Amino acid sequence: MIPTQSRWFASPSPPLPTPPPRALRNMPSLRPKPALFNPIFRLTKSGRLRRTSAGGAVRAMDAAQVFDRESEEPEQRARLKIAIVGFGNFGQFLARTFVAQGHAVIGFSRSDHSAAARSLGAAFFRDPHDLCEQHPDVVVLCTSILSTEAVLRSLPLQRLRRSTLFVDVLSVKEFPKNLFLQLLPPDFDIVCTHPMFGPESGKHGWSGLPFVYDKVRVGDSEDRADRCRHFLDIFAREGCRMVDMSCTEHDENAAEIQFLTHTVGRLLARLDLKSTPINTKGYETLLELVENTCSDSFDLYNGLFMYNNSSTELLERLELAFNSLRKELFGRLHVNLRKQLFQSPNGGSSPGADEN
Ligand code: NAP
Repeated sequence: MIPTQSRWFASPSPPLPTPPPRALRNMPSLRPKPALFNPIFRLTKSGRLRRTSAGGAVRAMDAAQVFDRESEEPEQRARLKIAIVGFGNFGQFLARTFVAQGHAVIGFSRSDHSAAARSLGAAFFRDPHDLCEQHPDVVVLCTSILSTEAVLRSLPLQRLRRSTLFVDVLSVKEFPKNLFLQLLPPDFDIVCTHPMFGPESGKHGWSGLPFVYDKVRVGDSEDRADRCRHFLDIFAREGCRMVDMSCTEHDENAAEIQFLTHTVGRLLARLDLKSTPINTKGYETLLELVENTCSDSFDLYNGLFMYNNSSTELLERLELAFNSLRKELFGRLHVNLRKQLFQSPNGGSSPGADEN
């Protein structure tokens, strides 16, 4: 019998073991390296994923096949096959951790990232049909906000399993939620997420960093709930602060948190600030802000503006705040100048000073 992946979710899975603190993770006795994890998948030279434990190729299989649940180790049931659509900067950043946790990662992008995928231990497909025929459990949409709709529309969804979990990691949330609800078949599960960190801020680990998620639509069955839980567990295991928040609430908060941060960072970048031998801590913070925000693509920043209703209002508030600050400064300057102008040589006000 050819095994299918759907069996992983056919029975209640035990909770994943709690990860040891980061400092202890290098100790082999506490956390085996992924290669020692009794791997389920192996990348062949031709780029195909093969299931090592059962020996069968995992591709284009019929989801309706009967499966042998008993032969599965509980730990194997928690392993996911995750397709990352949009294998750019952030997609690769996520892939590294997915692979490190023993999941099988398959990437797809407009550009050829096969060398990067290989170095991360992932497979890469240039044709979306090939990608979908791999029948991933989870499809993570990691494209630029601006290109998301076109990319989603270009995927041959009919080649995926009838029940597939779709996740997005876009920095805005209402937009992908509405898009998913509009374009995905009703049998697909939907979880909208936003890891509130990136390759720069998360380069030393994800511990304590916020991960926002909204289970927009997850089927009632146990296997669907398990699949969703296993995916979210990836972030929980890394120590993320898991925040269950609606997409609407996220966007209201994110305009201030993200769009403001990125706008100030990009504004400062235009001043071409230089490091000096007498940098203060405050100035160092500004330099770091420039580095953190400008290392992301302009597309990302533009997406934050275009696809969050609150961003325009925030830009206006920023302009008003800047003008009122400038007005206050120049107002005080005028008062001081006037005082000096009309100061009489003997210390009193000269005649006429009060008339103006
Ligand atoms: P990005 O510029 O927002 O997105 C780059 C990805 O989008 C690449 O994979 C790129 O494809 C793809 N793409 C861009 N234009 C495309 C088009 N016209 N057609 C098809 N694909 C297109 O940069 P990113 O930092 O990698 O972000 C990816 C997503 O993650 C975004 O939605 C962003 O909001 C979200 N996110 C990013 C961060 C972060 O810190 N960077 C944090 C949280 C969430 P190619 O690979 O072919 O170039």
